[in-house]
Amino acid sequence: MSALSGKVQTVLGPVEPAELGFVHAHEHLFVNLIPPNLRDLKGEPIRMEDLGALRRNWISNPENLFLDDEEIAIDEMRQFGSAGGGTIIDQTIQGIDPNPEALVRVSRETGVHIVAGSGFYQMEYHPPELSNWSKEEIAERILTEITEGFGDTGIKAGLIGEIGLSWPVHPDEEKVLRGAVQAQRRSGASLSIHPGRSVEGPFEAMRVVSEEGGEPTRTIMCHIDRTLFDLDSMIRLAETGCCLEFDLFGQESSFYPLAPIDMPNDAMRIDYIRQLIDAGHGEKILVSQDICTKHHLTRYGGEGYAYLLTCVIPLMRQKGMSDSQIDTIGKENPARVLAFAA
Ligand SMILES: [Zn+2]
Repeated sequence: MSALSGKVQTVLGPVEPAELGFVHAHEHLFVNLIPPNLRDLKGEPIRMEDLGALRRNWISNPENLFLDDEEIAIDEMRQFGSAGGGTIIDQTIQGIDPNPEALVRVSRETGVHIVAGSGFYQMEYHPPELSNWSKEEIAERILTEITEGFGDTGIKAGLIGEIGLSWPVHPDEEKVLRGAVQAQRRSGASLSIHPGRSVEGPFEAMRVVSEEGGEPTRTIMCHIDRTLFDLDSMIRLAETGCCLEFDLFGQESSFYPLAPIDMPNDAMRIDYIRQLIDAGHGEKILVSQDICTKHHLTRYGGEGYAYLLTCVIPLMRQKGMSDSQIDTIGKENPARVLAFAA
């Protein structure tokens, strides 16, 4: 039995799952969403008068697409902590500029637990050498970040993912997912998957997970809000055993720039969650805001990481969810998923 079994591995070291408090299962404190081959694109400073347009088309200004300011991150995390937040999972992985040393400083400064992810994002962010690596080599790289740490920092990952898939899935992305499943089996860490933008995306990902011998109940399907649009397909996905992560709370625009979809608003997300609970799948639900751009930070007029706690939870209560149901999705489910398996 591994020493980590039953424990959660934060960037400051192992903690008991009961210490996590309310968990945002999918955020980014430091990230760069600009694809590596476009990194020299110059953006414009974000001005108050541009915010309305930026909220509709948030990919229009490269300046919006990266978070690298530690002082702002500390300020935003203080707001999360003051609102009653306990833990953030930072799912920034290789290719989108993880910064584990800054995560350590933010966690020390604010008292918020931070769990760091490990793995590789979508194909356009892969290092060029990755196409030559085997799935076993990819698994080894992830395992090293969990057991020894990122580079020579000694700071360790506590989750695998978000593993990035496109639609259709690129063969190198499928190879990364297979390597990630091997790392899941060998480490006891849970696996988090960013599926391609298609209703078929999450099902194809779960097909690969099961073919590779992965553990569905320790697998998180991210971004349900922009991928599945009816209760039947959500229930069908829940029946594969994986967790369903509604992680785009606060993102309510009808003008989603990445796909021609009708993004649900928060009330609709809550309705889906309630119906999934009624269908017996409450223990598979996770929630978050997936903040990865400046315009979602309070510093830039956005809702900030405290929004789920200060606005969404009251709406959940108003719409009939009980405190124990809210604790299940915000505390118990993430605690169970983050604790390493034996
Ligand atoms: Zn994300």
